[in-house]
Amino acid sequence: MSNNRNALLLTILILIGLIAGAVVGQILFNKYDGNVPTSIVDSFEFVGQTFFMSLLKMVLVPLVATSVIVGVSSIGDSGQLGWVGTATLIYYFSTMLVAVTLGLFLVTTISPGKGIEESFRDSQVQDFEGGNSTTSERVKNASGTGLIGAFKNIVTQMVPKNPLKSAVNGEILPVISFSLLFGIALTMIGDAGKALQDVINSAFATIMKLIEWILWLAPIGVFALMVWTVARIGLGSLRGPLFYYVVTVLAGLAIHAIVILPIVLVIFGRANPATYAWQMREALMTAYATDSSSATLPVTMECAEKQGGCSRRAARFVLPLGATINMDGTALYEAVAVVFLFQCFGIPLGPSELFIVAITATLAAIGAAGIPSAGLVTMVIVVEAVNNSLGGTPLSLSAVGIILGIDRLLDMFRTVVNVWGDAVGAKIISRIAPD
Ligand code: ASP
Repeated sequence: MSNNRNALLLTILILIGLIAGAVVGQILFNKYDGNVPTSIVDSFEFVGQTFFMSLLKMVLVPLVATSVIVGVSSIGDSGQLGWVGTATLIYYFSTMLVAVTLGLFLVTTISPGKGIEESFRDSQVQDFEGGNSTTSERVKNASGTGLIGAFKNIVTQMVPKNPLKSAVNGEILPVISFSLLFGIALTMIGDAGKALQDVINSAFATIMKLIEWILWLAPIGVFALMVWTVARIGLGSLRGPLFYYVVTVLAGLAIHAIVILPIVLVIFGRANPATYAWQMREALMTAYATDSSSATLPVTMECAEKQGGCSRRAARFVLPLGATINMDGTALYEAVAVVFLFQCFGIPLGPSELFIVAITATLAAIGAAGIPSAGLVTMVIVVEAVNNSLGGTPLSLSAVGIILGIDRLLDMFRTVVNVWGDAVGAKIISRIAPD
C-alpha cells in the first residue's frame, strides 16, 4: 500500500516537474525574446545533467553488464536462449520496419516539404554551414560513412576488442555483446559458475536499489532539463515554418505508439496497453525529458520488473538490448525527415529511393546510440544512400540545418516511442520466457 502511494507521489512529482519545466522555460524564452542568457540556460543544464542524467549514466554500464549476464544465465539452456533471442530480434526488426513504412506513407501523402518558405530554408542551410554547434559538428563528421560504413559500425561494436575500454567510454553495445557471451559461458560451466552467478545477482540487486534512490531525483532533473530545452528553443517553434513537418512526425509517432504497438501488445503479449503504459509511466516521462533511451534504461527496467509484471528473465535481456538497437521512433523519424528534406528542394524520390530510405533508415536507427540527437546524426547515412542512388549529390548534407533547430523537441517524442517499443517487446518476450 505504502509502496503504491510512493509510486503515485513520484509520478505526480515528475509530472509537475515536466509541466512546470515547460512553463518556466517558455516564460524565460518570452522574457528574453528567445535569447535567454547562457548563464541562466547553463545553470539549468548543470542541475539536470549532474543530479539526474549523470547519476543514471553512472549506473548504466554496471546495470547493463550485470542484467544481461543474470538474464542470460537465468534463461538457462541454449535452445531456449536461441528462441528468445530470435523472437526478440524478429520483434525489433518488424516493428521498426512497420514504423518506417508508416513514416514513408505519411510524408509522401502530406508532403510537408512542398510548401516550405525558400528564404527560411536557405537561411537555415547557411546557418548550418557556418555554425559549429556540437550537433552540427557531429552531423558533418558523420558524412562519408555510407551504407557499408553503417554496417561496419554496428558489427564492430558487436565484436568488441576491449570490453573494458568500451565500458569506460560508456559504449553499451560492446558491453552487451561481451556480457551475452560471458553469461552463456557461465551457464555452461554448471556448478563451477554458481558462486560467480550469485555475486553478479547481488551486484544487480544492489544497482537496482541505487536506481530506486536516483528515481527520487527525477522530478528535479526533469524540471531542469525541460527548462533548459524550452528556454533555448521555445515551444512556438513547433508552430513555425516547419509546422507541417512537425505534424507529420508527431502523427506518425502517435499512430505507432497509440495504435500499432498496442495492437501488437494485445495480440502477442496478451496485455492491456493502457494499464501497461500507466505501469511504465515513469520510464516514459524520463525518456521525454532526457532524450536518451540509454539514460532511461535504469528506470525502464525498474518499472518493467516492479510494476509492469515483465518476467525478470525477459526484462534483463530484452530491455538493455532494446535500448541500444530497437528504435521505432528514430526509424520513423529518419524516414520522414529525409524525404522531407528532398521535398524541400523539389527533388522527387521514386519507389526505389523510398525502398532505400526504408532499409537505410532502419539500419541507421539500429546503429544510433540511445543518446540525444543520435537519430539526426545517423540520418546522414540515409541521405547519402539516396544521393548515391540518384547519382551525384542532389541534396547537400547542409540541408540537415533546416531541421536542426527543432530536433531536440522532436527527439523527446521519438525517445518516448523508442522506450515504449522496448517495453512492449519485454512484455511480449515475458510470455516466451516467464519466470
Ligand atoms: N534520442 C533517441 C534515443 O535516445 C535517439 C534519437 O533518435 O536521436 O532513443
